[in-house]
Amino acid sequence: MVTMTGWSDLSEKSKHPPPLAEIVTLSSVQLQASTRIPSEFTIETSQEGAAAHVTVPRDTTFCETCLTELLDENNRRFAHPFINCTQCGPRYSIIKKLPYDRQHTTMASFDMCETCKKEYSEPTSRRFHAQPTCCHDCGPVLSFVDNENKPIETHDCISATAKALYENTIVAIKGVGGFHLACRADADGVVERLRQRKRRPHKPLALMVKSLEEAKRFAHISKAEERLLQSPERPIVLLRKNDQWENHLCPGVTFMIDTVGVMLPSSPLHYLLLEKTSDFPLVMTSGNPSGDVLCCENDDALSKLNSIADYFLLHNRPIHMRIDDSVIRIIDDTPVMVRHARGYVPRSLPAPISLDGLVALGGIQKSSIALGRNKTAYVSQYLGSAEHMATIAHADGAMAHLEELLGITPKAMAHDSHPNNPLLHVKRPQGLPLIPIQHHHAHAAACLGENSHPGPAICVVFDGTGWGEDGTIWGGEFLIADYSHVYRAAHLKDVPMPGGDAAVRYPGRMAFSILYQRLGDQAKDLIAWMDDSEKNTLAAMLDANLNCPKTTSMGRLFDSAAALLDLCRERTYEGQPAMELEALADPFEKGVYDYDCDWTGPAFLIDGASILIKMVQDIADGVEPPMIAARFHNTIAALAADIVGRLAEQTQINTAALSGGCFANRFLFKETKKRINALDIQLLHHHHLPPGDECVSYGQLLIAAETLKGSQNEQPDWFKGLRRPFRGTRSPRSQGQAFKIRTNGFHYASGHGVLYPTEPVCQTFQKAYPA
Ligand SMILES: [Zn+2]
Ligand SMILES: [Zn+2]
Repeated sequence: MVTMTGWSDLSEKSKHPPPLAEIVTLSSVQLQASTRIPSEFTIETSQEGAAAHVTVPRDTTFCETCLTELLDENNRRFAHPFINCTQCGPRYSIIKKLPYDRQHTTMASFDMCETCKKEYSEPTSRRFHAQPTCCHDCGPVLSFVDNENKPIETHDCISATAKALYENTIVAIKGVGGFHLACRADADGVVERLRQRKRRPHKPLALMVKSLEEAKRFAHISKAEERLLQSPERPIVLLRKNDQWENHLCPGVTFMIDTVGVMLPSSPLHYLLLEKTSDFPLVMTSGNPSGDVLCCENDDALSKLNSIADYFLLHNRPIHMRIDDSVIRIIDDTPVMVRHARGYVPRSLPAPISLDGLVALGGIQKSSIALGRNKTAYVSQYLGSAEHMATIAHADGAMAHLEELLGITPKAMAHDSHPNNPLLHVKRPQGLPLIPIQHHHAHAAACLGENSHPGPAICVVFDGTGWGEDGTIWGGEFLIADYSHVYRAAHLKDVPMPGGDAAVRYPGRMAFSILYQRLGDQAKDLIAWMDDSEKNTLAAMLDANLNCPKTTSMGRLFDSAAALLDLCRERTYEGQPAMELEALADPFEKGVYDYDCDWTGPAFLIDGASILIKMVQDIADGVEPPMIAARFHNTIAALAADIVGRLAEQTQINTAALSGGCFANRFLFKETKKRINALDIQLLHHHHLPPGDECVSYGQLLIAAETLKGSQNEQPDWFKGLRRPFRGTRSPRSQGQAFKIRTNGFHYASGHGVLYPTEPVCQTFQKAYPA
């Protein structure tokens, strides 16, 4: 907290805080004549254990003044790769505990030289209390080694790295929150070698360029994108490629995707390197082996990346908290977070009630954790997919780190209600109460929470996979929800996934399954590129209901549409078929397909097959694929708006919310927003967290807090008004598993369609942890 005097107009001043300052609250107090006013501004010595009410600073790139010094041959920090000041530099990634003092950072082991010490203690200096401050004499140093850790003879590691990159080798570079793998982006051979070695055949690779001008050579950049690229957070921004891109990038950087992820130098080290390599953009992809987390220490990187990188540019400033680059795209002038990480975390978000002591484990596929303190939720960085053991260990570390920084002792833990949730392997105190939360309800709550909306709202949650209460995989959902109650009002009709995960990997299987369910053997004539033998095998599996879990996923419907257009026979990264379909879609095509929906049941059932059949007809009629792809997107947006409109009319609820990974799709988000806005319905969407699973931990915290308050037992009027029974039944197997494995002695009831603790449990909790 900063106390200022002499501000005549607080609200005017608050519009221009210092670059890294965030004004959380602003209040003015009338002082008594006798009040002693301090004569000067001072920073007092921190008290141990005073961490509880300070915020955690985030990592930022170099400021303009540091850049000037970096380039000034007469400055004592000329070309110093670790230059920083009070306005800039690493923070979250190097802080071990709060208060934020040098001895609590990974800079503690570097003793300041006399000159640095003087600057640090001089109130008029730019580096007064700049905790990571250092210089050539006292700061971290670089080293350049080959992949057997043999030092390469050089007096200038950055020039040696630039030379190695110029010569088409792959270099692992230690940055702010972890390692990158770098190579030239204009040279086919080395990009292909990187893809082979990293076992990443198709997923787009991010680029780093020195300046906006460099990026403009191959991408369209709007004013909003320019601001974002140059912001102190330095995220990767997804930009549309222009028609000159092939002169600057090799096709293997992004393949069929029409956007490219670009960032400007995120640290002085990267700036110095890019100064020397500005003839060509650099691929700068995360430095991790396939299925593992980002490497952040030198030894770790040398042992895990030595079969990928030819050389390593290392430094000896330890990274305490590993953190990836953030990824953002601008859709319709709205920033949509795609990966929430460096520069933005830990993120603090509001809550309508106290979240004190609650922690949440988040979603399984794109994990993040969240912790509650008072009425604020703190959301971690993107942690990876919890299907990998390394991610669980990373979640453990991130949880312990945030507990330490925020002074939080967990009282209860919220988690995704999936019966085999791997995240429950995180370290936790014995007997810590567990609260399972339905995946899409958490999405809905996160979107309401970000907008400080009390609910209820008609929440459209479109994503790939989330455990549903009836034992099927949900993902094409219309939920009417607030933080305590949820009603599944409409969804895609469930369809079998032949082979389970194999149907996700091979999108043609989903397309066939959906068509076969509706058309029977006639479906065998429809997907021209698929072998007859494969179709016969799939038909036999579907007939026998052999390993065919059911799903209502919107992600799988997108996969199927992509498969009908033969875009992606094998998916090698999450979202690939949908991203290729989005890239193909003609933005000027306005056509919409009719779709069937069963409006009679307790929940409206949308028939995905009816849409695919229209696509098949268009394909047979020779309609151009970009038009077909656009019509598919338009149809999904139109059905979202139709159903929101009907539900709004029925329930008199005039707020809608959009969440789920599908809404990172530029075409779908824009079109759905436009159509719902035309209905005169208030539309909420995410502003800070990604619409994908990284928002789930925040939603879990909000629901868990209401759960522990016992809010499920008091039905709000809007919920009573629905008066329709929950559709679908939970299979005894899933019920048994959920009870035995997940609940740690908890009792659960599923009266409202979602598993939540019963009244006695809430009372026990309230006794143990009185408010
Ligand atoms: Zn600075
Ligand atoms: Zn120094």
